[in-house]
Amino acid sequence: MNHEQSRSLYDRALSVLAGGVNSSVRATQPYPVFVERGDGGHVIDADGNRYVDYVMGYGPLLLGHDVPERVQAAVQQRTAEGPMYGAPTEVEVELAEFVTRHVPSVEMLRFVNSGTEATVSAVRLARATTGRDKIVVMQGGYHGAQESTLVEGEGDHTAPSSPGIPDSFAEHTLTLPFNDEQAARELFEEHGDEIAAVLTEPILGNYGIVHPVEGYHETLRELCDDYGSLLIFDEVITGFRVGGLQCAQGKFGVEPDLTTFAKIVGGGFPVGAVGGRSELIEQFTPAGDVFQSGTFSGHPVSMAAGLETLRFAAENDVYDHVNELGDELRSGLSDIVADQAPEYTVVGTDSMFKVIFTRDSGGARGDEDDHCEAGCRQRPECPRYDACPKNAADVKNAETQRWVRLFRQQMKDQGVLLPANQFESQFVSYAHTEEDIEETLEAYKEAL
Ligand code: PLP
Repeated sequence: MNHEQSRSLYDRALSVLAGGVNSSVRATQPYPVFVERGDGGHVIDADGNRYVDYVMGYGPLLLGHDVPERVQAAVQQRTAEGPMYGAPTEVEVELAEFVTRHVPSVEMLRFVNSGTEATVSAVRLARATTGRDKIVVMQGGYHGAQESTLVEGEGDHTAPSSPGIPDSFAEHTLTLPFNDEQAARELFEEHGDEIAAVLTEPILGNYGIVHPVEGYHETLRELCDDYGSLLIFDEVITGFRVGGLQCAQGKFGVEPDLTTFAKIVGGGFPVGAVGGRSELIEQFTPAGDVFQSGTFSGHPVSMAAGLETLRFAAENDVYDHVNELGDELRSGLSDIVADQAPEYTVVGTDSMFKVIFTRDSGGARGDEDDHCEAGCRQRPECPRYDACPKNAADVKNAETQRWVRLFRQQMKDQGVLLPANQFESQFVSYAHTEEDIEETLEAYKEAL
């Protein structure tokens, strides 16, 4: 494959953009593929190479790159009518009505412009509601580029994970290993009265795709109730993807107090949202006194794209299609892994998937009876249970360098585009086909 155009564009980009990119994950080795256009489940790069695309914009593109006529028409009409006004429009009410109708815990919303803005606003709201400062996040969880959640460390020994963030931010952020109920109980015993909220992704989607163990979210719910803290589900990735329109909270049957959304809810345009019970959301200004505002919030083009995307998903077989292809991929990958790399683990659910290059299969092979063949579900009776990553430390232990430097490159050479690293989820879209899945499995067979 020739990558001369991408190389030379990156050369230019390095002179005028920090690291040559506008979001750090895009700076793939040795240089990024510059995309010229999308086509269904594929992207075509600046050199004319075609790839099956599983980056899918890092999650927003539920429908793939060919958006249906009605989404295109809505976007074009909104743009033609003047893109935004700084005044309310009907379309933002309609999208809010749609979301509140489908997501179990959400009665009311505030739209913002990104996932980061959503989690910032949710944390502020939780602190204001409880009169407490501390928040709890999961190690390896990601909630955007915000000061309060860019932390590293364990329990109450945390420090900012980036220069430029005062230590005092990290002092208010406690961390837990995902899926460790005992650690959660102990943290609450020590700090429960200071904790404003637990903020967690329902499934860790930025650290290898880690599925919750049975009862984990229920334990967090119970602890938050007992100690008067709020439970915030960050559904920026899982929202309108896992569990379909009810989101992951509906699938897992656990109701958070607040939910953050972004990605799919904007149909491929910039968006974010905080949702929850009315008495909580109404504390945002101007209904309440917790300041929240934004020039572009509820942008009509994003609202229209999100609304028409979700309506399309509601009226068509979108979730059946993406989830079936997801199952096919994960089952096919399980067979390949059992044959060629039994220490690796296939993870994911619905339309999320990944092979984590774990180093230990716990002595079990993926082809044993009763293993989770469509991706790890953390079932204690699965022969691979002990080897299945339970938290970020387990994922970090994987062969991440092999993944980045060898495997991803080889997949790219075979025409399959994966995210930059071992940690980020891969996504199936409505535009992917059976043929794409077959081609992808062949590529994995070669590259693993
Ligand atoms: N929360 C989660 C779970 C995410 O995956 C992301 C981004 O990938 C964010 C928050 C931040 O969203 P954004 O990049 O739109 O600011």
